[in-house]
This record gives sequence, C-alpha cells and structure tokens, in this order.
Amino acid sequence: MTFFILTFGCKVNQCESENIQKSMEENSFEACESFEKAEIVLLNSCAVTGESVRKLRQSIHKIKHKNPNCILAVTGCVAQAESDEISKMPEVDIIIGNANKSEIPSIIKRYLSDKRPTLKVDPIFSLKTFPNEIVNYSPHRSRAFLKIEDGCNRFCSYCIIPYARGRVRSKNLADIENDVKLLAKNGYKEVVLVGINLSSYGMDIGKNLADAVSVVCSVDGIERVRLSSLEPDLMTDEILLRLSKEPKLCHQFHLALQSGSNKILSSMRRRYNREEYIKVAHKIKAIFPNATFTTDLMVGFPEENETDFKDSLDLIEEVGFLKVHVFPYSVRPGTLAETFDGQIPKAVKAKRVHEVMEKSSETCQKVLKSFVGKMCDVLYETRDADGLYEGYTKEYVPVKTKSPEDLRGKIIPTKMGTVKDNYILCEYI
Ligand code: SF4
Repeated sequence: MTFFILTFGCKVNQCESENIQKSMEENSFEACESFEKAEIVLLNSCAVTGESVRKLRQSIHKIKHKNPNCILAVTGCVAQAESDEISKMPEVDIIIGNANKSEIPSIIKRYLSDKRPTLKVDPIFSLKTFPNEIVNYSPHRSRAFLKIEDGCNRFCSYCIIPYARGRVRSKNLADIENDVKLLAKNGYKEVVLVGINLSSYGMDIGKNLADAVSVVCSVDGIERVRLSSLEPDLMTDEILLRLSKEPKLCHQFHLALQSGSNKILSSMRRRYNREEYIKVAHKIKAIFPNATFTTDLMVGFPEENETDFKDSLDLIEEVGFLKVHVFPYSVRPGTLAETFDGQIPKAVKAKRVHEVMEKSSETCQKVLKSFVGKMCDVLYETRDADGLYEGYTKEYVPVKTKSPEDLRGKIIPTKMGTVKDNYILCEYI
C-alpha cells in the first residue's frame, strides 16, 4: 500500500517524519509523492499554536475532499494532547500519540486487518526512556537533523509541549555515535542536533549537551555540528567553555528569548530575566567572536503593554539578531496562561508582529554587513531558479554564488561579497 506523510511544526517533528517514513518502507509500505494519490495519509501534527491546530483541521478536510477513499491517520502533538478533539472528526480513521510513534506501521497494519477506528495514545508522562527510532539517512543530502532529546520539564505558562511530549528523555551517547557514523558514511557533512528542549539533553542520564556535541564532533567525515533551539539559562560557563573547544561547532546560537520584558518573562514562567539573557549573549560573543544569534519571540502575551513591547524591540537591537522568528501569542488549552486576564486584541498582535519583523530585518542587515570581505566556509546545498548555488556559513549566514561547477554538497571557502535583502551574493568561484 502507498502512503504519504504531511509534517507540521518543528525540526523534531520533521526528523521523526523522516524516521517514520523509513520504518513504513521497512514494513513494505510504499512512499507516494502526493496525498492525492496515496492510499494512506499520515499527518504528523503540531500543537504549539492555535494556528497550527487550525492548519491541521484545514488539511484534514482538504485531503478527504481530494482523496475521499484514503485512510487518514493523525499523529504528533495534537494527537497526544488533544486526541478528544481530533476523534470528533469523522474524516480521521486512526489517531496515534507521540508515545506510540514507533508503533505506527504495526498500528496501521492492524487497522487494515479490521478497519476499526483506532485511538492509540498512551500517557506521555509514563515514558522514561528515549524512544528507539530508526534514523533515516537517505543519501545525496549534505545536512542531517538528528533528534537526541525529547520532552521538557519546564512548563512555561503558555506552552502545551510538555503535555504533548512528556518529561526529558535523552538518547545515550553510544546510540548518538552510531547514528552519526551512519550519517557520515552516507555523505552528510553537517549534523543539526535537535530536541524539544535540546539544552536539557542528558539531565536524565547524568550527561549534558557538551557531552553529546563532543561525541558528534569526534566522528570522521562530519565537518560541522549545529545546535537547534537553546534555553539561555542552561548555557552555563562550563558548557560554553567545553563547546569552545570543538572546532567543528557552528557558531550560530538559537537562544530562545520569547520576550524582552521582565514582567512578561516572569508571567511566562521563563527561567531568566532580560539582564541575564543579555549577559549570556555577551558571554557567547566573547567566547565565539563571529557568533550570530537567532531567536523566537512572542508578542501579545496577556498584559503586554507598549512599554513591555518596547523592551522586546530594544533587546532585539541590543543583541543584534540575524533572525527573529516572531509569533503572536495564542491561548493553548490546559496551559496556565489560558486562565490569565488581559488578553491582547488580534489587531495589536498583528501590528507588533509587523514591527518585530521590521526591526529583525534591520539587525539582519547589520549582521550580514559585518561579514562582507571575510572568507567563510560555505556548505552549498541547493541551486536557485537563476542557477546560483545556495548555502550557509557556519554562522548560518545565507549565501548565493555563481559557479560553472556544481557546488552542492561541498564546503567551499568563499569570500563574502555584496549584502542583498537577506543573504550575501558572493564572488564567482
Ligand atoms: S522550555 Fe518552555 S517553551 Fe520550551 S518546550 Fe519547554 S515548556 Fe515549552
């Protein structure tokens, strides 16, 4: 039977969809290139915002409209945290929680044998160990996502993720090493370490993030190691010092911020204030001179007034981010913030999102200009419609270059040329 996977949300979900694809193929299911033609359509859902849940519902209607005879299965964070809501949708045949993702092929086979609507959602907080996942390492790619951590113990007041992902569970170092050796053998040059709360890696097995990075960096053939989203308060001096000894580490730090206002940070139950955030950013800048910063920022959190919002804009300026991913706050069922007063009108949220994007492109330009004239190693990955090769420096500076030679999959020292909207156009190679 043929199947198609539609993925929503974060890098962890993308990574898991690749692994699910591999396990489905290993169970004699055949991947299909579109949901219109597939006999089984699997939606790997995201519950982080109201918008992501709305998109899931919209997709379910659209898929069943275009492919009414398909078997429709929903997995991921909405299936885990809001299975009651999804089970009310007649279009959905199978619901599989995050706790049961590794059983997807067998659950689908069982459904095929009796065609009975299936709800397989084990309690997520009962999970104590990192799920045993097959890593998908399809060749001819240069950058791989590797999930090494799942779950989060923090319960920020706005966040539904701990209810969908459970407590922190870390992949052991030996399994990480084996997977990275497989990736290197299949030609990957860069590994991006991902997790639900990556900076909490190892706290359940007596290790920490620096241990994982050092294992990945020790594998021959892997030339660059990149970290996904980090919690600022968990980037301790010890960890930063150890990371500074890893020449393969990419000096791009996605340091989650969420707000620049101490009042709002406290109401979000974040574990740092603005002064501590700035201190960590400055410490990183001192240890990694060329370091760049990217971040996530929420606007329109309950009680966020113009002064609070200005604090966020000022902090974007202060740190000088390469990229700010901005999200309007959306109420998530079952979270503490759902009960908060002072909800912000939609129009105000939209205006603040716009202002953050403007500020973010200003700071992006400044960062790009600071690289002009420098020689940077660029991992070229794709070619755009104009035939220019596209890639990133270790600092995640986006680059486009003209070349008669196919640069894809290669790391090439490149002189940083002219700053464009959101990338650097480089000299002819
Ligand atoms: S750290 Fe906070 S925002 Fe991030 S996943 Fe955990 S609870 Fe959610």
